[in-house]
Amino acid sequence: MKQIQMVDLKSQYEKIKGEVDKATVEVISSSAYINGPEVKAFQTELESYLGVKHVIPCANGTDALQIALMSLGLEPGDEVITSDFTFAATVEVVGLLRLKHVLVDVDPDTFSISLEAIKAAITPKTKAIIPVHLFGQCAQMDEIMEIANEHGIHVIEDNAQAIGADYTSKDGSTKKAGTIGKVGTTSFFPSKNLGCYGDGGALFTNDDELAEIIRSIVNHGMGKRYYYDRLGVNSRLDSIQAAVLRIKLRKLDEYIANRQSAATFYNQALSAHARISTPAVHPQSTHVFHQYTMKIDGIDQFHMQEFMKSKGIPAMIYYPMPLHTQEAYDAERYNDDDFEITNMLCKCVISLPMHTELENDQLKFITDAVLEYLEKN
Ligand SMILES: *Cc1c(COP(=O)(O)O)cnc(C)c1O
Repeated sequence: MKQIQMVDLKSQYEKIKGEVDKATVEVISSSAYINGPEVKAFQTELESYLGVKHVIPCANGTDALQIALMSLGLEPGDEVITSDFTFAATVEVVGLLRLKHVLVDVDPDTFSISLEAIKAAITPKTKAIIPVHLFGQCAQMDEIMEIANEHGIHVIEDNAQAIGADYTSKDGSTKKAGTIGKVGTTSFFPSKNLGCYGDGGALFTNDDELAEIIRSIVNHGMGKRYYYDRLGVNSRLDSIQAAVLRIKLRKLDEYIANRQSAATFYNQALSAHARISTPAVHPQSTHVFHQYTMKIDGIDQFHMQEFMKSKGIPAMIYYPMPLHTQEAYDAERYNDDDFEITNMLCKCVISLPMHTELENDQLKFITDAVLEYLEKN
């Protein structure tokens, strides 16, 4: 059996090595390293894959979130609602811009931001909601858009974990994750579902005017060459990364299918166990399994992680600590009782290896180890 990795980028690379090596060498010999034709081509291809009018590439997923907030013209002190159970980047950028983060609890089954909690958190100063499509499935976008429209609030979708997921609205229309709100953001960090071989990110929007503003912000706020219309940043996707992403975008649906079939294997082996809750998938979203994250009753996650490690199986705890309790984000306004679900999840979730190259003997070995652990503990 091949050694089990949390994310096996090397085996994936070996299958596309010919194409990738050729494309990257071509960029190097072209010397168009920044904003070259590869970046433009990737942008257009991603627009077409997502069915969105504008893709604006940038340097990473955290920048994408920051730029999204900057593009909406928020003022210091404006409130931004987001999830307590997410990667820190989502809330970090809110703080960096001197906006006020309003962390709220999540749904116990899908781990998506709680609709009730959003409603309870809205004040006249609320200017944006950032739902996170956590672990690979969409948050409840119909309801989130309804709440946001009713209150005149912007929606920024943090789609770093769910690129390629489909969301079907109650009216029957299907859209790609990240293209439903005012603006969507993603990351091309190597381990993400569409990952490059370094850092990368992008923003998506169907709003022409906003796209223009975002294009200016990623380029120092420049409008006409050397005329600066607004404060911006320097945030670019390298041509080499774009060349890699073009190749991997063509394989994205196949990669998603591989992840889904690994998840199906896990489900079949584990869902009958009384203490395990395998990932719940909301009927309006597909799940692209950036992570396969289970809840296990009465578990000591770190103890289980050690056991798995002793068998050569990596397992991760996403996420071990609610954001509202972190040194950087705790605030007097937060009341621990309002985060019942996140507090509970942080004590019982564990994520199994998930990537595009998992083989059946590996999956069997992993699920056997989970069951063996639960028999003893
Ligand atoms: C990875 C990730 C980001 C940040 O992306 P980077 O490219 O690493 O900056 C933001 N939000 C979520 C939910 C992520 O998983």
